[in-house]
Amino acid sequence: MKRLAEVLRDWEAVIGLEVHTELTTLETKMFCNCKNTHDDPPNANVCPVCLGMPGALPVPNRAAIQSIVMAGLATNCQIMRHSMFYRKHYFYPDMAKNYQTTQGPVAFCMHGHLDLEVSGEGAAERPAWEDVAADGETPVSRERDGSYVAPIRILRIHMEEDAAKMVHVGGEEGRITAATESLIDYNRCGTPLIELVTEPDLRTPEEARLFMEKLQQTFRTLGISDCSLESGSMRCDGNVSLRRRGETRLGTKTEMKNINSFKSLHDALEYEICRQAEVLEEGGIVYQETRHWEPSRRRTVVMRVKETADDYRLFPDPDLAPFDLTDDFIEEAREKIPELPDAKRDRYMAELGLKRADAAQLAADPNVAAFFEEALEGAPAKVAATIANVMVNLVPSFGALTPAQVASIAGLLAEDAVTFAQAREVLAAVDGTEKDPEAVVDERGLRQTNDVSALEPIVDEVLERCGAAHPKAGGVG
Ligand code: ADP
Ligand code: MG
Ligand code: ZN
Repeated sequence: MKRLAEVLRDWEAVIGLEVHTELTTLETKMFCNCKNTHDDPPNANVCPVCLGMPGALPVPNRAAIQSIVMAGLATNCQIMRHSMFYRKHYFYPDMAKNYQTTQGPVAFCMHGHLDLEVSGEGAAERPAWEDVAADGETPVSRERDGSYVAPIRILRIHMEEDAAKMVHVGGEEGRITAATESLIDYNRCGTPLIELVTEPDLRTPEEARLFMEKLQQTFRTLGISDCSLESGSMRCDGNVSLRRRGETRLGTKTEMKNINSFKSLHDALEYEICRQAEVLEEGGIVYQETRHWEPSRRRTVVMRVKETADDYRLFPDPDLAPFDLTDDFIEEAREKIPELPDAKRDRYMAELGLKRADAAQLAADPNVAAFFEEALEGAPAKVAATIANVMVNLVPSFGALTPAQVASIAGLLAEDAVTFAQAREVLAAVDGTEKDPEAVVDERGLRQTNDVSALEPIVDEVLERCGAAHPKAGGVG
């Protein structure tokens, strides 16, 4: 197979993502009062509603709807005042009532967008405009260093519920193929779930990875989910097709599943783009199918081929009244939105004079940002940049430092009392303790001094002794 860079000179990759996020921070499930946690023993958190017993009536979780409205506002979506729940029918044991409650053509949030800043090595995945210039393509405007901003449209974010978790035993890599038995845990069934669907605006695996990362940062900052790709509270399907440069029609897409890390998302799309290019260049056709990413073998394999459109018999759920969101409800959600990562980054740059990359790194994760701001409290303004430097370059190597310890070591670094290497040594000594770095520096006699009046007599004495011992060297000059 050709390499990605070579493929993308001749072909344009068109990528759209479908991202499911469980609202893990809510107390209860979407339509019942069951505890919203997967940590309990299997099938501990169930009731007639989430088990789909006939006659059980669902009641929508108000906090979940507030969360999705917050997600929509944070991603520049239009909040739809009128929408409703639909039943999407299918038969599978992970949903005992045989339909998933989801939304129809109108979702709570429609037509948003996120702007991606693509820089560094990843920016090179999108070939330079001059290399691929063709009709029908809009070049992104690039900075001198190759970085660019890609606006990615979001089609919708709708509210739905998660299905039960199935555990396939005895098969390969936990898949149903060759499994000897399957177990079902209904604790997850009915978990509030939001699905975000992008327009097919992404053009490189790196852009897809960055989009997911930005979404994770945004949702975590909103506090609506822990957004863990590893544990599955955030899940992503990657859709991709190819078309010749200059072509405006969309090609046939494949859909990638089993993506549980940012790297998998990137690598699965990279593999799939190269695979499709090979098929097309050999005169073959790409089938519309769902493929499974196998991280250990670094390839995608067919899961199922889509021959006809699925018929879910989608219809409005007669048990759930249509919504009529009030201005007050939407404003209440808006007021709950904290400062988002981009705004935080800009503020760190403007107020503290931080470099863009450092500011962005500190603003990305709400826990890191809160830690950083706590370390800043009470520290002199001129130490802010050093605190940021310590946060970016030293703190990630340690497990349990406190903001006060970071502020203290940054203070010592800022006045050149210790070197960077010594700072690392001192942090290793205080990590996981309540000890003050300054006390450790004094204990170990590490403190350096740049005080000239203290140093001069020492230098004089050294020179004098040198002069006596080595008259020639001392006499030169
Ligand atoms: P499906 O019904 O197969 O789920 P959708 O039309 O709902 O397909 O689109 C799902 C995702 O795939 C969206 O993110 C959309 O932007 C993207 N997508 C749709 N068509 C294409 C295509 N031809 N190439 C790449 N991505 C596509
Ligand atoms: Mg799909
Ligand atoms: Zn329940």
